[in-house]
Amino acid sequence: RCTEFDMAYFQSYSHVGIHEEMIKDNVRTETYRAAIMRHQNYIAGKVVVDVGCGTGILSIFCALAGAKRVYAVDASEIAVQASEVVKANNLTDKVIVLHGRVEDVNIEEEVDVIISEWMGYMLLYESMLGSVITARDRWLKAGGLILPSHATLYMAPVTHPDRYRESIDFWRNVYGIDMSAMLPLAKQCAFEEPCVETITGENVLTWPFVVKYVDCYTVTIKELESVTSKYRFESMMRAPLHGFAFWFDVEFNGPAIFASNHLPYPSQSSSADPNLNGSDQRKKRAKSDEALILSTAPEDAPTHWQQTLIYFYDPIEVQQDQIIEGSITISQSKENSRFLNIHLEYASGGRSYVKESVMR
Ligand code: SAH
Repeated sequence: RCTEFDMAYFQSYSHVGIHEEMIKDNVRTETYRAAIMRHQNYIAGKVVVDVGCGTGILSIFCALAGAKRVYAVDASEIAVQASEVVKANNLTDKVIVLHGRVEDVNIEEEVDVIISEWMGYMLLYESMLGSVITARDRWLKAGGLILPSHATLYMAPVTHPDRYRESIDFWRNVYGIDMSAMLPLAKQCAFEEPCVETITGENVLTWPFVVKYVDCYTVTIKELESVTSKYRFESMMRAPLHGFAFWFDVEFNGPAIFASNHLPYPSQSSSADPNLNGSDQRKKRAKSDEALILSTAPEDAPTHWQQTLIYFYDPIEVQQDQIIEGSITISQSKENSRFLNIHLEYASGGRSYVKESVMR
């Protein structure tokens, strides 16, 4: 059923700006193109569905990689432009634009490949993965390819003194006036909801924790409704703890990559080079088989997803090796399943706290 929230959601994708931002995100777009080329031997001659084609860019990459037919599906009005772009590139015999929801449109054949750029802030915002699952269950052949194939959501404790100074401590002395009375409001306005912003590896206090690992071949819509995870960190330094950062990465593996060097894709397995000895041969193969990853981690090249931060209202002073533990629950909001309710419990230094927030 298409709700009023869905309508507003698809409306938001009818503007050029959002597509411009995504396409100009080189890390994103180049990694998708590389993934398509990495699997070119599989895609060539096959049928592809692009779940949420937007301007049609990924569909066209697939057509150029040799796909026999690409169904480019989008419920937003941007599908009109996608059609025009396909025409202007003389690809109408290969790329079929379907203007409608993946849940509603009809495709009269099975598909070999699903490609989709469905990831939202902190991976799950927008809840678009459910539509990829629907497409998989409606049309994907057994043994077909899903790109990306796997996704991982991470969290880590962060220190961010500059951010706290600018937004909060600022009010302590404003043109010589004590404006501390503003502090409660400033904290609420700055930190009530999750913030999408960029941090660096230096803000992060420990190795990250995996909140959720998604295998796109097997994940169900049900298991995404609510994700809960218990975490435990040991701070690697002494610092004020300001909150937690969340980020994700996605991998572009074939359906049968797991623990196997024997991939069905010639592009990944036919790397034998008679000029290399056995050991170098293995190293070379390890390198070419290396998982192709689109990462939004703070230590990696920035993307339009940035990182998502959940700040505490007041920092906690942690010592080196101090334990920070608790649990995180990320659920689709009841009022609008595209929003996320985030229930965060955290304890450190003998005190425990709860923070509820909504990403809308
Ligand atoms: N593939 C494009 C656009 C990605 S943005 C690119 O990589 O640049 C995600 C797109 O998916 C949006 O245009 C949105 O309208 C579309 N979308 C989201 N859910 C959908 C659904 N259930 N059915 C059809 N389109 C959907």
